[in-house]
Amino acid sequence: MTGHKADDYTHSAVVDTVIAPRDFDSFRLSAGQVLRFVDSEGQQCADLIALDPDDLTSRLSPTMSVSRNGRLYLGVGDQLVDDDGEPMLTIIADTVEHHDILCGSCSPGLNRVRHGGRGAGKRTCHVNFAEALRPYGVPAEDVPYSFNIFMNYPVSQDGSMEYATCRSSAGDHIDFRAERDLLVVVSNCPQELTPLNGFTPSSSQVIVFAAAGGNA
Ligand SMILES: [Zn+2]
Repeated sequence: MTGHKADDYTHSAVVDTVIAPRDFDSFRLSAGQVLRFVDSEGQQCADLIALDPDDLTSRLSPTMSVSRNGRLYLGVGDQLVDDDGEPMLTIIADTVEHHDILCGSCSPGLNRVRHGGRGAGKRTCHVNFAEALRPYGVPAEDVPYSFNIFMNYPVSQDGSMEYATCRSSAGDHIDFRAERDLLVVVSNCPQELTPLNGFTPSSSQVIVFAAAGGNA
């Protein structure tokens, strides 16, 4: 694929929506459509999960995605796959090239363990996902693990990890092409107790582009 053709799909948006700070949205993608996540204000990460709408037990698997790609830091050309290793999403553009696939989502339990009373009542990605999947009959305990867009939780040479602020600036984006029909949920991470989102969760934008060839 040549450089100028790589952007051809951006001419035909079928969805263009703002996700408010701490909020989430769900998207039904047809095979070939492209979902773009845009960090509107900078230093904002988002957790992403994907499920097969016709078989909700088939979900994006971070561990299998690491195994299939042979790397911890996924970038352009890498694929997010399901538990069987079957492709779900391919990263086709990425202006940050630094994401997390290891540490799951912020949750009420994690906030309580890490932050005690300061974490009480805070919105979390896990709660967002549970709300998004409730209409589909998926219970909260079955919320799958996430791929964390722009999340900056690097692994050091000695294997240790430490949260740092997202490297994304306003306007940075990542594009995922759906390899099959999918239900995708994006949680605009509400975490404000770590440096991740600069201690100030902000808004983001999601655009869905039609599949190449013009099919919406
Ligand atoms: Zn989060």
